[in-house]
Amino acid sequence: MRSLSIFGVTGSIGEQTVDLICRAGGAQAFRTVALTGGRNIARLAEIARLLRAEIAVCADPADLPALREALAASGTEAAAGPQAIAEAADRPADWVMSAIVGAAGLVPGLRALAHGRTLALANKESLVTAGQLLMATAAAQGARILPVDSEHSAIFQALAGEDIAAVERIILTASGGALRDWPLEALARATVAEALAHPNWAMGQRITIDSASMFNKALEVIETREYFGIDPDRIEVIVHPESIIHSMVGFADGAIMAHMGSPDMRHPIGYALNWPARAPLPVARLDLAQLATLTFRAPDLTRYPALRLCREVVRIHGLAGAAFNAAKEVALDRFLAGGIGFMDMAGVVETALDRLSAGESLGKAATALEDVLAMDHLARTRAAEAAAMIGKTG
Ligand code: NAD
Ligand code: MG
Repeated sequence: MRSLSIFGVTGSIGEQTVDLICRAGGAQAFRTVALTGGRNIARLAEIARLLRAEIAVCADPADLPALREALAASGTEAAAGPQAIAEAADRPADWVMSAIVGAAGLVPGLRALAHGRTLALANKESLVTAGQLLMATAAAQGARILPVDSEHSAIFQALAGEDIAAVERIILTASGGALRDWPLEALARATVAEALAHPNWAMGQRITIDSASMFNKALEVIETREYFGIDPDRIEVIVHPESIIHSMVGFADGAIMAHMGSPDMRHPIGYALNWPARAPLPVARLDLAQLATLTFRAPDLTRYPALRLCREVVRIHGLAGAAFNAAKEVALDRFLAGGIGFMDMAGVVETALDRLSAGESLGKAATALEDVLAMDHLARTRAAEAAAMIGKTG
């Protein structure tokens, strides 16, 4: 029986992973080792009981008594705090889903790789902040990273059996997010609720806002570079409002392999769960005649400044990804809290990066966890300062 752990099990990706596991037989088909969640203790305990997990870990030690109570007589151990989450990754499991949101997902995923586990990676922030470290750790341990971001799963599938040296370009598709058809001048006043109304994908709150600002696509450009090791100048972004093509690979002979399907994250999750096999998945089948047309347009960099900023990040490389992600997380928090406007997020990140690149450390290789965490911390401070300036003047 295969064993597995899920980090971030109470989130959007986590729940869809549980859905697929239950459809495949649940506790009869898989042995569940560790499950971790943030604040939703009741749901964490419920899933732990359902899958008969060895241990359930919540993010905040203050929630431990509630978790213990919810797990009473279940046979599942309870633990809490970032350290306990990291230690849960030390427990042997054949397959580990990394689906915590944000930089908090880096450490458990990295620990799982250090033990040679197969890592299904939804937490894109891991590759963005510490791609060099993550890929080197996987290579050293012979561990496999299976991408779960829909674009990267699509590229991975398009590359099956191909030589990466024959790849001319990778084309990331982007829906354009909730505000893509808004007049440019209205974007500054967009509210959280408006940015959350994603046209195609149902996702966690943070990534949905990042889709509207295209910070999500900016992170994915960096993720593509780190995971596939491709020259960043060969990575293109195209707006494809229907989200039917999940990304494409262009080869030296001019052929383009496109991955198509309905926009349902259970496809990339299920592909990673069943890899290298393909098993039936409960995703809607495409009706091409009904779809009739697929459309594409070049992204407007005035509308999506994040796409411009990420080009500088991949040029600097090293710790620039950690700085970019951390500054973006702070800017997103401030937008969610109503402190800054929608278009201010890019301004905060740009100001923070400018101030950081005045020092020299941004270009330092992201090969040591301490360096990554130190840059993450520093960039959060710079971004908070930049956001405070906007809060005062705006
Ligand atoms: P989500 O917010 O729905 O869930 C995040 C999970 O992490 C929850 O279980 C939450 O409780 C937990 N969590 C949050 N902060 C934590 C912390 N500090 N410590 C420990 N646990 C914490 O997020 P999501 O949409 O499922 O996204 C998860 C990851 O997958 C993100 O990195 C996201 O970018 C990526 N991703 C998501 C989708 C999607 O469709 N949702 C698609 C592609 C990639
Ligand atoms: Mg994606």
